[in-house]
Amino acid sequence: MQPPRKTAPCTFPPGVMVPQIDPSRCEAKGPCVPACPYDVLIIRLLTPEERADLTPLQRFRAFVHGNKRAFIADPDACRGCGLCVKACPERAIRLERRVVPP
Ligand code: SF4
Repeated sequence: MQPPRKTAPCTFPPGVMVPQIDPSRCEAKGPCVPACPYDVLIIRLLTPEERADLTPLQRFRAFVHGNKRAFIADPDACRGCGLCVKACPERAIRLERRVVPP
């Protein structure tokens, strides 16, 4: 695990919470990526398979925003600090308690 790039108000150990990104809201603007001290989030292009899974409206929105959106690159690193939630101008991120299969 990498040390945090900046101080975060972490309230959970790693792996308890995880961000969920709403593909209907994300516009790939990207402030969530530098906001996260643990490099949990990335902005990248959608794969053809991911585009195929979108609704027509989501596909149109993705096209308008360069077929990019935020993804979770390292869910095990999230500390549930909420900085990404605050950074997103589209209110596309929420935190959930992670469900780990037994
Ligand atoms: S809540 Fe968001 S900013 Fe904080 S560690 Fe998790 S992904 Fe990163």
